[in-house]
Amino acid sequence: MPNDLNVEGMTNVPMRNCRARHISSFVISLSFRHSSFVIAIRCFAIVTTMFGACTLSLNASARDTVDLVLPTDNDALFSGDGAAFYQYVERDYKGAKSTPWEGGRYGFVRDPVDTAGGTVYTRFHEGIDIRPLHRDTNGDPLDEVRAIADGKVVHVNPIPGYSNYGKYIVIEHRWDGSNYYSLYGHLSSIAVHPGDLVKRGQPVATMGYTGVGINQERAHLHLELDLMFSRQFESWYNTFFRNDPNHNGIYNGMNLAGIDVARLYVALRKNPALTIPEFLSEEETFYKVILPKSRHFDLPRLYPWMIGGKRNEKSSWEVSFASSGVPLKVEPSDRRVMQPELSYVKKSSIDYSHLTRDIVSGREGNAHLTNYGSQLMRLLIYPQ
Ligand SMILES: [Zn+2]
Repeated sequence: MPNDLNVEGMTNVPMRNCRARHISSFVISLSFRHSSFVIAIRCFAIVTTMFGACTLSLNASARDTVDLVLPTDNDALFSGDGAAFYQYVERDYKGAKSTPWEGGRYGFVRDPVDTAGGTVYTRFHEGIDIRPLHRDTNGDPLDEVRAIADGKVVHVNPIPGYSNYGKYIVIEHRWDGSNYYSLYGHLSSIAVHPGDLVKRGQPVATMGYTGVGINQERAHLHLELDLMFSRQFESWYNTFFRNDPNHNGIYNGMNLAGIDVARLYVALRKNPALTIPEFLSEEETFYKVILPKSRHFDLPRLYPWMIGGKRNEKSSWEVSFASSGVPLKVEPSDRRVMQPELSYVKKSSIDYSHLTRDIVSGREGNAHLTNYGSQLMRLLIYPQ
């Protein structure tokens, strides 16, 4: 977004000015050295203060840069060798078995279904599956898993059966005032604890094959970079999914919306100053939902950059989503609704449930939120 470009630019400008002022103050202090020792001391104090401000400004700038490193030694993503980078999936489509590596990518890459509009991949993969490069003599993966950026460990699940991700870690990153979460799944062992501060590239775990539907041969690291829907997730979950206990608090995968982390890595190589809002501004809005007015609506607090347009007291909110389910924008709406209502979907002849991860269903001009879609939208404003 243009606003964030300005913020980046502004952090650079004062830094340069600081340096220039630092030098000129030093020259002044030299010229006054013989006439007044006191003035020189004062000038020194000014220089020290400015230097301190410069250092602070440098730190703030460094913290806000989305400076990512790949989580393992496998860097074939950057040479474009998909088969070497992504772990394959086992596919059985119309009786034909195959092992396409494309199923390890981010996006609608799994569970093909034949439709009148052609083959549609209906199952969404919220992260990327990275192949191991190192195995022991038993065939177990040995790859070290590292933090993709500076951050804080906020969740560790050491019990494979507590999640489809198996053993997993979540690390919180703070960029330009918003929190983002990297998630590392199917680990064999974990070397960090909740609350630990970690540096970019710091080892945090070892690759494994814990979790649902994975075997030793298909061992991989599942990596996500996520936005969070709501900090009220636990009470929402306990209302709608009472029979399936949540062992992972607000770091349950249902509360995390994965962005296209592979595309982000490549985009950051081209433009290291790229921000997440700028990156997401390239995503297409696939559907919009109007939410009832609620003081519990967490998204604008978590991601203030999403807010567009002027709002008055009575306004509802309209949230724009990518087909991935990632929220992109939050705008005021004059339409009063009692429950979440679909207000827009990109027209398609293919059933919308295939294209929206079952949030919207119907086709052509006949679209509505599914039961699950309505529930998920209520999460955004829960406990409304
Ligand atoms: Zn995966």
